[in-house]
This record gives sequence, C-alpha cells and structure tokens, in this order.
Amino acid sequence: MKSLSATARLRTLVMLAGVLAAGAGLAPPSARAQTIPTPESFFGFQMGADGKLARWDELVEYYTLIANASPRVQLVTMGDTTMGHPFVVLFVSSPENLARLEALRQINATLADPRSASDETIERAVADGKAVVVQSMGLHATEVGASQMAAELMYDLATRTDGEVLRILDEVVSIMIPCFNPDGQVMVTDWYNETVGTAYEGVSPPSLYHKYIGHDNNRDAFQTNTVESQYGAQIMFRDWVPQAYVDHHQMGAYGARIYVPPYAEPIRPDADPLVWREMSWYGAHIAYKEEEADKAGVVNAAIYSGWGHFGFHWITPFHNIAGMLTESASARLATPLFLHPDQLRGGSRGLPEYEAQTSFPNPWPGGWWRVRDIVEQQKIAALATLDIAARNRETVLRNAYLKASRQTARGAEGSPAAFVIPADQHDALTAAELVEKLLGQGIEVRRAASEFRHEGRIYGAGSFVVSMAQPKRGVIRWLLGRTLYPDNSYTRDREGNPIRPYDMSTDTMSEFMGVHVEPVDGPIAATLDVVQGSVTPVGTVAKGTLGYVIDGRLNESVRVVNRLLAADVGVRRAHVASDGVRVGDFLVSATAPGDLIDRLAGETGVAFQALEADPSAARPVASRRIGMYQRYFGGNIDEGWTRLLLERFEFPYASLFDAEITAGNLNARYDVIVLPADDVDRMMGTEDKDTPVGSRAEDYPPEYRSGFGQAGVDALEAFVTKGGTLVTFAQAGTLAIEKFGLPVRNVVGGLQSTEFWSPGSTLRIDIDDDHPLALGMPSRGLATFLAGGQVYEVVATPQNERVERIVTFVARDILQSGWLLGEDRIARKAAMVAVEHGAGRVVLIGFRPQHRVQTHGTFKLVFNALLGGDTARDAETR
Ligand SMILES: [Zn+2]
Repeated sequence: MKSLSATARLRTLVMLAGVLAAGAGLAPPSARAQTIPTPESFFGFQMGADGKLARWDELVEYYTLIANASPRVQLVTMGDTTMGHPFVVLFVSSPENLARLEALRQINATLADPRSASDETIERAVADGKAVVVQSMGLHATEVGASQMAAELMYDLATRTDGEVLRILDEVVSIMIPCFNPDGQVMVTDWYNETVGTAYEGVSPPSLYHKYIGHDNNRDAFQTNTVESQYGAQIMFRDWVPQAYVDHHQMGAYGARIYVPPYAEPIRPDADPLVWREMSWYGAHIAYKEEEADKAGVVNAAIYSGWGHFGFHWITPFHNIAGMLTESASARLATPLFLHPDQLRGGSRGLPEYEAQTSFPNPWPGGWWRVRDIVEQQKIAALATLDIAARNRETVLRNAYLKASRQTARGAEGSPAAFVIPADQHDALTAAELVEKLLGQGIEVRRAASEFRHEGRIYGAGSFVVSMAQPKRGVIRWLLGRTLYPDNSYTRDREGNPIRPYDMSTDTMSEFMGVHVEPVDGPIAATLDVVQGSVTPVGTVAKGTLGYVIDGRLNESVRVVNRLLAADVGVRRAHVASDGVRVGDFLVSATAPGDLIDRLAGETGVAFQALEADPSAARPVASRRIGMYQRYFGGNIDEGWTRLLLERFEFPYASLFDAEITAGNLNARYDVIVLPADDVDRMMGTEDKDTPVGSRAEDYPPEYRSGFGQAGVDALEAFVTKGGTLVTFAQAGTLAIEKFGLPVRNVVGGLQSTEFWSPGSTLRIDIDDDHPLALGMPSRGLATFLAGGQVYEVVATPQNERVERIVTFVARDILQSGWLLGEDRIARKAAMVAVEHGAGRVVLIGFRPQHRVQTHGTFKLVFNALLGGDTARDAETR
C-alpha cells in the first residue's frame, strides 16, 4: 500500500533529521541566524511587492538555505507533486524539540488517541508534549499571497530572538506546508510574469492551476486522489494529528479585507463541541492581533459556514483538530487593485451590510489593495495561531485528550454503534478501496476473521467493522452515515428561497462509491482484528480452455480490459448469462500472455476465472478513439477530473480543443467525444452583459479566447449523424438537446429553486442493468446530483424508440443524502438516456457519474459509453 510506505519514509526522514540536528553541534540561534539572508535580499524584493512573485523553485532554494543554516528548521521533502516539483514540509521548533521530534510525535499520538493510555500516561504526555500546529499556504494557486508570506514567516521564526518567537519555538512544533500546490504556484507565477505589463496583466491563468483538479484540490481531502492530498492526509490524519490547522486563502476583492475564524452558521454537527470553542478562541486571538496591528476590515463568524465541503480545513474538526481558514481579499494576482468605498459590500452570511458590527468592528474604508497587505495580515494570523498555542500549551494538549476521549465515549454510547461493510458487495474491490480511504484518514477498521451473526443478519468472513467508539467518530459519521442537510432559517432566505450550501450538501463517501454499508447497534460478538496494511486482495488466476472470465461488476475490471486491449489481447463481453458467466462479464482470450495476466491480477485484485464454455452471446470489445473537450477561461474542473478518471482506468484519449472541433471531419479521428459538465455559452464562447470581468474574451490574449461557436456545434452534430457517439455530463446536455434538437426535454431546466433543488445530493435511481450502457451496474443505485444537473423526459415523436431510458429516478423517497426539494418533478423521470441521432447517438447523463473521481458507484456508466462494441440494446436487429 503506497501510503504506508510513504509514512515509513516520512518517519525515517523525521528521525534522520532529528539525529542530524542533534549531532550538528548546535550553535546559539542568534549566531547561526546571521547567515540567513532576509527574503528581500534573497529574492531581490520584499514579499508581496507590487508586480513580484517568488517562484516555487526559488522558494525551495530559500527554505533549503534556512534549514541548512538554522537549527530551528528542518525541511522534509515528502516526494514529488503531480508534475514533479518537490512537495516540501518545514518543521519549526526549538533545536531541543527538533532533536526529539519522533518522541514528540508519539506523545502527540497518545493524546490524539488515548484509548489505551492510563491517567498517568496522559498527565505525563500533557507535561512533556508540545502543541502541534499545521499551517498550509497556497493551496489555491491564484490566491498568491500566502506562498509569499510563508517565506517571510519562516525568516522571522528562524531569526527572531524576542520572547514571542522563543516561546513559540519552545512550546510548539510548527509544521508548515509552505505551498500545498507547487505545480499551480509555478503555473500562476509564470503566467503572471508573461502577462505583466501587457493588457492582460492580473487576470487568472487560462487553464486549471493543477494538472487535473484546479480549485477543487481541497475537495480531495477525504478521497485523496492526488499525491498532494495524500501527503496532506499523511501529515494531518495519521503521522501528526495536530491540535490546530490553518489553511491560508484569498477571497473576492470587494468585501471584508480578511476573514478569520470561527465559521458562520450553519455548522455540521457531531464534532466535539470543544473544537468549535477552540476555533472561536484561536479566531478571537487572530482578530485581536490584527486590530492590535491596526489592520482594518477583519471579519469573523461570517461568509464561510461551518457546514462546508470536506476539504482539509472543514474535515479537520471531525478529526478533533481546530480546523480553520483565513481568507484575505484578493488583488489582481500580484497587481494592486483600487477600490472605492461604494464598491465595498457585505451581502454574505453573517455580514449582511458593509457596516461595523461585533464581528466586523473596523470596516476598511477603501483605497489601494496590494499583495503586501495580504502578506502582512496573513503573517499576523499565522503567528497569532502559534502564539496562543504556545501561551496555552498545556490547555491545548489536555483539550486534545478531552476531545478524543469524549468522542470515543459518545461513540460507545450512541447509535449507531458501528458501521459494517459486508463482505458481500456488488463491487468488492471498490469496497476495499473505501476501506483504504478510511485507513488513509487514520480511522481504525476491523475485519471479521470468520462469518458472524448480528441483529439477525449474517455477515461473511472478511466483512469490515468500523466502530464509532474511537476518536475519529465524527469523520466516520459523515463519510459513512446518511446525511440530511438542514432546511431551516439558516439555510433559507427571507423569501424562503433555499441558500446554496457552500459546496456539496453531502459527502457520504460510501454512497458516492456505491459501497453497501450498514449502521448497526449493540456490541458485535465476533473476532475482529484491527486492519494493518493494505486490504486490496491479489486476484487469483485460473486458466480455462477458452481463456478467462473477469467480473464485469468491478470497476477495476475495466482497467484490466484497457490494459489487455493495449496489448492486443482479444476481449469480449457477455450479453447473456450462461454457466459461470454473468451478463456484463468480460471474456479474455486464451492467447493472453500468462505473465501479463498474473501481473494484472496482482496489481488490480481482479480474479481471472477459467472460461470453459463459450457463452451464446458475447460481443468483441475494441478500443475506441476518445476525444474530450477542453476549454480555456480558467479551465473546466469537471474536465480535469474526467481526465484523471480516464487515466486512472487507463483509457487512451485525446484532449480536443476548439480549432480541432471547428475544423470538422471529427469521425476521421474519434469514435466517442465527451463534453464534461459545462455551460453551453462557455463552450460556444458566447457572452452576454452578465459575463463577469475577468472571464470575458477581451480579458485574455487571443490564443486563449475559447469557444467553438456555431461551427463547432455543426461539426459535433455532423460527427454524431455520421455514426459518432457524443457523451454529455449534466448541463453540457443542453448543447445536444437544444442545438441538435433532440427529442428530450430537461424537466428541471428553468425551475425556481423553491420548485426543484438538489445541491450536491445522492438520489435513488433504478438502472436498466441489461442495457449495454449499464452492464456491470446493480439494478438500484445512487446518482450524485449537483445544481445544474438535468433530468429527462421524452418528447413525443413518431420514433419514440430512438430514445432509450437507461437510468431513471425511483418513484418516491428519492433523496438518500443531502437536500432535495421538488421530488415529484423528477420521480420516474430519466437520469440517463441514449438518443439516436442520424447514424450515431448522444448519451446524456444528467447527473455527475464521475464527480471528482469520488462516485465510483456510477463510473461504469461512463466506462460503458467509452468501451468499444455495439452498445445499443437491440444491436443484433439493426
Ligand atoms: Zn482558496
């Protein structure tokens, strides 16, 4: 398991670094500090200077220099980022603390999970331990201030000899992630430097600022699909469970100057209440320090509700970590912005007016706003967090113990007592992946060695049990338990219109992944062993006279098929069940090289069973030429995630830009074209008066003004009518429905939010699992439905059979988790249809079948549309 070896590596590095520091013959800090240049002398400008950004490679050079010169700083490289830059973590503390970092880590681990510790051990840990604070900068790369601030903060912590800093060094282990997204930092810095002094200075880059996931990179905290998230999870959830975590961000330019903790209403319940009090406590100190330094425009308890997405700062409270963020007003990348008083406004949660209030006593009057302002206010926030932890080290540590032990006690007394992940699953390898993701959160999972009976149910050997009687009870509850977003006066405006949640209205991982999980009560009478290491099995291999059968219900089987097709191995798919073969299973030719099969079974966990009798109906699967539309204007995050999905499952594909589309003749190069969820105007490049400044064509250099226009629509329609398949996700369906005139109607298009509302929910669906596009799916499942999603009804034509309804919403009780208004509008309507158009067809998926690569339960609907072979139901009759 990759994450465990990475853990071992970090531990080794941390211990090695400790040994080096201890053996280095530590010079007094002041004497050593003289060798560290100021950021200004190193970079040639003050951090946050107008028009200047230090690039990640230079920043790493500076941190390396500091770590070499200062006994207060150790630099650990966790590994490479997605694009090969170093992901760096800085440990800052007194030389004495750094010399015993591994011992401090273990003390901290005892307080974070005190289940087996005696009172005496706890008292000793509180006395001997140090407060642990993690802060991360530059997660969102266009929010440029924090990664610049970090250099100045590091210089201060490495060189200052005053009481405040010395106390911080003595009492706190400060873990700094000076840039959470180095790839994006480099992209944005280079883009800024290219455009500075041109008409396009200060506009955001035209593409995603992470190779795949752009601004969604914090939404990846619980599924950790990227290496950056895996490093973050290792530091925060497993190796170090800090007492406090702060993410430093930037927000819009036209309101408060900086948001600091705590969060606004509503909050997501089921964390230990102490953690919410701590966030207010840290936040008060940060706000106080900002006012002390005469910084205007500080707001707290506003804008960011405590019920947000499950990104790092919002999931951490459920790990018993005071998980917080700061959000500074933005400039224009590194270019200053002037704001008039009448341009400043409230209008957000907890800040209805831009006027003085308890949590906003000092409105900023307007004027020039510069990155230097951001650097200064964020440095105050970062130091204030360390300062209050240092001044209250014992309280902070004792609270860590209290939160962990009280959450464990609540879990032991409450309902459900545990979640069982039965061994019997539709897609057992995805269930194993869910368990891996829980382990990645540092959650304790147990496995039954043998079959057991509980509450009248029999669970097979190998079933997993996740007890709520553990410190991370809160995380477990939200990742595995049904979640209903509140519908009350916190979530409706005065007219009764629902207010959009900050992000999704549920993050129920098991539901997204299509893994069956059962909440249970009472003590479980079974032998349950704590899972150590990976739970992904190695697939067995048995060769039959006609080759192999692999399970079509497994997502991983599709990865296997793509690997086999790439190796020119013949693969067929069963469309009728027969002895030992289910509908949807893949049949692999006996000519497949044995070493390849062994390797695939080992890598993916897919079992290869002997194929002895040829099924009556099986059709060849062939590699299809896939194109995926990609645009500029900041990029489309759903497109990036889809790319990541295709690469994970090893589909070959090409990114398709405007010029290639408008040139036409697409059938010569593609069999399938995917339009990820996107607005039709954005795809076509049409604008109206509401198009915001910064995303209009004129804001970008001509080569980045994307939009394929009517010529592109014509080319895409010709592609379909000549036999191509066009696949659309969510709102992208409008392009085909309206521009091609397909005989389907989006029944939720244009409805008021009071009439239909589903902001990131899981909805119950029926699936026609005999349909070629739904092979391998269960007959019932869950669709992840976001705002802007579509629901289809067939418009009457003489050839109604040209529309196939593949996935439909159930008749009633449609909501599984999240928030749904107006279920009668979508009951029994289609969530996915295939529409014949000329010689080809359009596959419209109205929800997000591949949302953030988190919705494994519906990946196969995408895969089937991309895999070769005739995928129409009555292919034989045509
Ligand atoms: Zn941000």
